[in-house]
Amino acid sequence: MLELKNIYKHYTTGEFTQTALAGINLKFRKSEFAAILGPSGSGKTTLLNIAGGLAQYDEGDLLINGQSTTTFKDADWDAYRNNSVGFIFQSYNLITHLSVMDNVMMGMDLSGVAKGEQKSRALAVLERVGLRDHLHKKPNQLSGGQMQRVAIARSLVNDPDIILADEPTGALDTKTSEQIMALIAEIAHDKLVIMVTHNPELAAEYATRTIEFRDGQVVHDSAPVEVLEPTHDYQMRRTSMSFWNALKLSGKNITTKKWRTGLIAFASSIGIIGIALVLSLSNGFDKQISSAENDTLSGYPITISKVATNTSFGPRRLGTEETTETEDRDSQLIYADKGAEEEPHENQISPAFLTYLSQLTDEQISGINRGYNSGLNLVRRQAETQVVNQDTIGFASYPTPNGSDQQGFLKENYDLLAGAYPKSEDELILVIGENNQLSSELLVSLGFAEDAQLTFDQLIGYQLKAIPNDEFYQPAGAYFKAIQGEEQLKAAYEKPSAKSLKVTGVIRGKEDLEIAGLSEGLKYAQEFATEMIELAQNSAIVKAQQEADYNVLTGESFTTEASQPESDHRMGSGASLSAAVSSITKDQLLTKFGDSDSPELITIYPKDFATKEAVLTYLDDWNKGKSESEQIEYNDLAATLTSLMGSVLDAITIVLVAFAAISLVVSLIMIGIITYISVMERTREIGVLRALGARKKDITRVFNAETFIIGTCSGALGIGIAYLLTIPVNIVLENLTEMANIAQLNPVHGLLLALVSIALTMLGGMLPARMAAKKDPVEALSAD
Ligand code: ADP
Ligand code: MG
Repeated sequence: MLELKNIYKHYTTGEFTQTALAGINLKFRKSEFAAILGPSGSGKTTLLNIAGGLAQYDEGDLLINGQSTTTFKDADWDAYRNNSVGFIFQSYNLITHLSVMDNVMMGMDLSGVAKGEQKSRALAVLERVGLRDHLHKKPNQLSGGQMQRVAIARSLVNDPDIILADEPTGALDTKTSEQIMALIAEIAHDKLVIMVTHNPELAAEYATRTIEFRDGQVVHDSAPVEVLEPTHDYQMRRTSMSFWNALKLSGKNITTKKWRTGLIAFASSIGIIGIALVLSLSNGFDKQISSAENDTLSGYPITISKVATNTSFGPRRLGTEETTETEDRDSQLIYADKGAEEEPHENQISPAFLTYLSQLTDEQISGINRGYNSGLNLVRRQAETQVVNQDTIGFASYPTPNGSDQQGFLKENYDLLAGAYPKSEDELILVIGENNQLSSELLVSLGFAEDAQLTFDQLIGYQLKAIPNDEFYQPAGAYFKAIQGEEQLKAAYEKPSAKSLKVTGVIRGKEDLEIAGLSEGLKYAQEFATEMIELAQNSAIVKAQQEADYNVLTGESFTTEASQPESDHRMGSGASLSAAVSSITKDQLLTKFGDSDSPELITIYPKDFATKEAVLTYLDDWNKGKSESEQIEYNDLAATLTSLMGSVLDAITIVLVAFAAISLVVSLIMIGIITYISVMERTREIGVLRALGARKKDITRVFNAETFIIGTCSGALGIGIAYLLTIPVNIVLENLTEMANIAQLNPVHGLLLALVSIALTMLGGMLPARMAAKKDPVEALSAD
C-alpha cells in the first residue's frame, strides 16, 4: 500500500542543519494499525507529514500503491491528500467558525461531491463516531473527546485508504483516550492507520504493529512487511474549490466578526460616499445648467456678423500673455508686440448664403433678421422739419420667420398694445420698454418734448420719410452737398419720391420674454432696407463716390487703414496738414450713403432649445468642404456661457473627486492590512484546508472571497449612505440657493462606484491572499 524507501529529511535553520529523518525504510499493509513510538524530536511527526504528502522528502522515494511520487506535482499531492489520506491531529484543528456538520463536509467540497451526498455521508460518519446529536454545534461548544471525534469523522468522510493520526489522544484524559483509541482501532479494520503516540500501553493494547523511532531512524518494528501484496492501480481525482464554496467559507468566517467587518466596510466606503456625493452634486448642477440654458439662454440668438469676433475664453490668449511676461520681463529688452496672432475672421455673407438661410423652416426658427448698417436720410415733420439720426431712434429691422406669416416673430414674443402689426414695408412698429418707457433722447429725436406724456394712440400714425440720395445730395461741381435748412428739407419731404413710413402699432415684450430681443425704438421691415439699398446703389452720389478716390462731400483723401488717424501732438499747431485726410474709409462712406452689399449682422432665433442644435448643424453643413476664408463663423453666446460654466464645474468636480479618491487609496491600504491580519488569524484554517487537499489557488480564492464580501458591503453601504445623504444635502442647498433637488445620484455612477469598491478591495487583499497561498501547510498547522 505505502512504502517509504530510504527517506531523508533535513531542516536547515540558519547555519544548523537538523536531520529529522535519516534513511527510513518502511512498508505498510493495506489495512493495519501501526503505532509509532519514540522520544520527542525523533522525527515521528515529520514521517507522518511526508507519508501524508503535507511535506516533501529530500531524498528517497515514497511509493503509493507501487507508484513513485518523485515526479509528483503540487496538484498530484493536493489530490493525494484529498482522496487518499485523512489527518487526525493532537489539537483537533477544527475550523472554529464552522459547525460540526460543515467541518466534516469541507473536504468533500474540495473533491466535488454533490451537496445531497455530502450531507448523507457526513451524517453517516458522525453517527459512527457518536455525534449524531451535536451536528449544529460549533467546535468550542464541545468537549475535547468530542472535538477529536469530529476530527476523526472529518478524516473518514472522503473514505481515504490511509488515516494518519499524530498523537490523537495527547490532549485527552485516560478514559476518553481509551474511547478514541477503540474508535481508531475499529477504523483500522479496513484501512491503513498510522498513529504517533507517546503512550506505549495504549499502543500495545490497540495497535497491530509498533514501530520505534530514535534520531530519525527506525530502531524497532514489531511486524515488518516482507513482501508487499500487489494492489489495484491507483487513481486520483483532482480537487478544486469553487468560488461559491470559497465565498461560503469566508462568509461564515466573516459572520463571526460582524462588527469588525461592518466597521471596515464603513471605513472603506467613505471614499465611495465622497465620490458619489461629488458626482451627484455635479450631476445635479449640470442638469441645472442645461435646464437654465433651456429656459433662459435658448432665447439668445445665434449671430453671424461680417467680422466674426472670438468670444471663447480659451487658454490660447492667456498663454501668449504669459510667455511675454515670464520670459521678457527680466531681460531689460523691449518686446515688440505684434498684436494678436490671428486676424479676426471675415465672413463672406454671399447671396447664396442668404438663400441658404432662407431655407431654414418655421419649425426650426421663430425668426431671422438681416441687419444692414446702411445709412438712410430720415426726415420728420413732427414739431419742425428735421433730419433724424437713425441710431437715436433705434431704427432697425425686425426679425421675421422664413414662412408666410411675416408678423410671426413679433406676435410670438411681443404684446400688441395699440394699433396693428406692420403689414407692408412702409409700416413701422414702435417697441417700448418693459415699463412702457422710451428714452428722452429718443423722444426728442422724434420731435417730442423731453418729458412728453404720450398715449399709445398719439404715436400711431407717426410719420417719417426716407429721402432718396438723389434728392438729398445735390451735385455741386465735382462734389456733392447735402440739403440743409427747413425749407430744403420740407421740399424734399413733400416730393413723391420720398418714401413714407408710418407707425402702425406699439408693442412691448411679453412678460415672460426671455429672448434678447429688440431694442426700444422704431422697427421696419427687412424688405424696406433692401429696397432702399437698391435705390442708393443707383443714386448719383454713390456712383460718383465709387469712381472717386476722395470724399465726394468734403474732397478729402481717404486713409488706407480702417482705423481713425490718431492726432499727433507735435503737429498740434499745424492743423492744416491733417485736415486733408478724411476720417472714414471709402467703404464706410459708401455705407453711409446707403450702399451695402451684405448684411452687417444676421440674427437667428431658434424655435427652442431642441431645434437650436439642428440650426447649428445646418450652419455647420454650409462650411463643409469650404476653404477657411469662405467659411461662415457664427456666434452662440448661450453656448459660450454655458460651456464656460460647464468646464468650470468639470474642473471643480475633478478636483473634488481627486480628493475623495485619496480616501479610496487609504481604504485600499487598510483592506490590505485587514486581509493580512485575517490571513494571520486563519493560518490554521489554511493548514487544515491544505491537509484536506485544497490547492494553493483555493487558498487565494478563500481570501479573495473575503475581500469580495467586504468590497461588496462597502460598495453597497457607500452608495446607500451617499443616496441617503443627498436628502439632507438637497434640503440645505435648497435653503441656501433655492434650487431644488440638486444632488442626484446617477444610478450608473452608483453601480460603477460599487464595482470600483469591489475591485479596489480585492486589489488591496491580493497580496496577503497570495501570501496565504504560499504558506507551508505543516507550518500553518502548527501555528497558534
Ligand atoms: P517528533 O514529532 O518525533 O517530536 P518531529 O518530527 O516534529 O519530531 O521533529 C524532528 C526533528 O526535526 C526535531 O529535531 C525538530 O526540531 C526538527 N524539526 C521539525 N520540524 C522542523 C521545522 N519546520 N524546522 C526546523 N526543524 C524542524
Ligand atoms: Mg511530533
